[in-house]
Amino acid sequence: MSDNLRELYQQIILDHNRSPRNFGKLEAANRHAQGSNPLCGDMLAVHLRVDDDRIAEIRFEGSGCAISQASASLMTSAVKGKTTAEANALFRAFQAMVTSRPSTPIDRDTLGKLAALGGVRQFPARVKCANLSWHTLHAALESQEGKKITTEREQE
Ligand code: ZN
Repeated sequence: MSDNLRELYQQIILDHNRSPRNFGKLEAANRHAQGSNPLCGDMLAVHLRVDDDRIAEIRFEGSGCAISQASASLMTSAVKGKTTAEANALFRAFQAMVTSRPSTPIDRDTLGKLAALGGVRQFPARVKCANLSWHTLHAALESQEGKKITTEREQE
């Protein structure tokens, strides 16, 4: 990765950590899930309003390290307005990126700004921080309409 790209990615993460997008409650939500990463102390709640199989609104609340917060901000920005199938495809692409070897090329066309988190591949302990928001999104999409569920994400 070039130094310029590395710097751009660091700035994206810093920016989303400092000014998280889509942060807060969502009154009209019809999907919810909670997740935690006990190894780091990251806590997250994801709220969605899914209309006709499309993510009309998404917000998150929580606290934790810069990677977990930036990841949640980037994740909500990426899936807002997407169909659930498109969101699940991004979920799989993100999983593939963060669990790949550091030398594997990143699919920047598919991942867009999410590629900024690709650097966690070099730090296995931080992969869970980056993954937390996506696993919580996945749990929320799997939950039934109007039913609140809690997903305790234990160490994998
Ligand atoms: Zn963390």
